[in-house]
Amino acid sequence: MKAHDGMYIDGAWRPAAGTDTIEVVNPVDEQVIGRVPAGTAEDVDAAVRAARAAFPAWAATPPAERAARLAALRDILVARKDEIAETVTAELGSPLPFSQAVHAGVPIAVAGSYAELAATYAFEEKVGNSTVYQEPVGVVGAITPWNYPLHQIVAKVAPALAAGCTVVLKPAEDTPLTAQLFAETVAEAGIPAGVFNLVTGLGPVAGQALAEHPDVDLVSFTGSTAVGKRIGATAGAAVKRVALELGGKSANVILPSADLAKAVGVGVANVMSNSGQTCSAWTRMLVHTAQYDEAVELAAAAAEKYGDRIGPVVNAKQQARVRSYIDKGVTEGARLVVGGPESPREQGYFVSPTVFSDVTPEMTIAQEEIFGPVLSIIRYEDEADALRIANGTVYGLAGAVWAGDETEAVAFARRLDTGQVDINGGRFNPLAPFGGYKQSGVGRELGAHGLSEYLQTKSLQF
Ligand code: NAP
Ligand code: MG
Repeated sequence: MKAHDGMYIDGAWRPAAGTDTIEVVNPVDEQVIGRVPAGTAEDVDAAVRAARAAFPAWAATPPAERAARLAALRDILVARKDEIAETVTAELGSPLPFSQAVHAGVPIAVAGSYAELAATYAFEEKVGNSTVYQEPVGVVGAITPWNYPLHQIVAKVAPALAAGCTVVLKPAEDTPLTAQLFAETVAEAGIPAGVFNLVTGLGPVAGQALAEHPDVDLVSFTGSTAVGKRIGATAGAAVKRVALELGGKSANVILPSADLAKAVGVGVANVMSNSGQTCSAWTRMLVHTAQYDEAVELAAAAAEKYGDRIGPVVNAKQQARVRSYIDKGVTEGARLVVGGPESPREQGYFVSPTVFSDVTPEMTIAQEEIFGPVLSIIRYEDEADALRIANGTVYGLAGAVWAGDETEAVAFARRLDTGQVDINGGRFNPLAPFGGYKQSGVGRELGAHGLSEYLQTKSLQF
């Protein structure tokens, strides 16, 4: 795993304008594993200028050729998938099998989907006496978090490039090595200089400079709601396109007719996966009062099995944050069934898989995004009550519904204020639009909907 000491700008690794660096830490053993430059507004400006200069030629490149470059990118991600998984494991701390299957596997699927979409998408259509063209928006500023470090990069860069946009990426400070590795694969794929540029750095410095840069046409941000609100406000003031993928507090609604053991088992696995650092995680499990005690027992047994197998959270700050939420749950009167605030290990940013029962909908742990391996089990009296609780947060990113038959589950899912719902354990679909209702965000990623975020329309009348 190599750390570059420069920025990838205009097709080459170039020295940063300043001398500050960011230490990359392995969350399992707290050792420094590399250093990357901490970019400034000057680096961002150089990258935006490169992206602007490359834009006309890339926008004019036939979609089939853009598709060929994306297919090459996908193939290189496949060829380097072990290295990707090892890099994500080193800087995020996720267990290697999960890094291989998800952190490396999903971006490969997404890159492949955009290679195909670029080749087949209708960039031009006839509407009565008009021809409507779908044209690239321009220069994209992409700001990504650390929890799915490569997926969140590819979910922005692949559709942007498919659309004919050029990109400047500011990845999370905790996971810059994965971003640097991605820049290497872009270079190997023969994507022209300036089409993709990387500036590593801190959010309030490099991130903010990118979000505020007057020559960026669209800002695509994934991260916290607090930062997302500021980025949305900045973009609004500049009348600039913006896409926001923010937090979540998703409900896993288990209706009385469901297979309870399966719904609870899959629900616990969903929350513990990636150490709870998944914005769409079903962190609230809603169970009918008649099945409540049985569900709590099943969830406790499932969570205990995780014990030592889950990875750490990303850094000391997140560990402290998650532990303070667990303390708060206890203080507000929830019952700790498994886990707790104590560190399970001397070293590393570990948090025990934790399950709370007797959680009421208004408690802090039922309202705020914890971003750790913490599940809250909430009791409901009837379907109307379940719906009110499920919809009773500021968020609306994801959710799950379990029922004896699909029709019943679908009827309930249609009443949820949320962007995606898994029915009876439905699988992740890399072509399905992903994004939030309410304060979980604006816009959609993935598939054709994700591509359209990077396009604007022009109508010619005849
Ligand atoms: P964050 O601070 O919002 O970070 C997301 C990205 O935005 C990072 O690249 C970050 O840089 C950058 N950033 C930070 N401040 C900025 C600013 N003022 N202007 C422009 N860019 C800025 O989120 P975080 O610190 O990684 O995590 C905090 C919380 O966000 C989590 O606990 C969780 O609740 C939520 N989160 C949600 C998602 C999601 O997918 N919805 C993903 C990750 C986190 P730095 O890396 O330097 O901070
Ligand atoms: Mg941050």
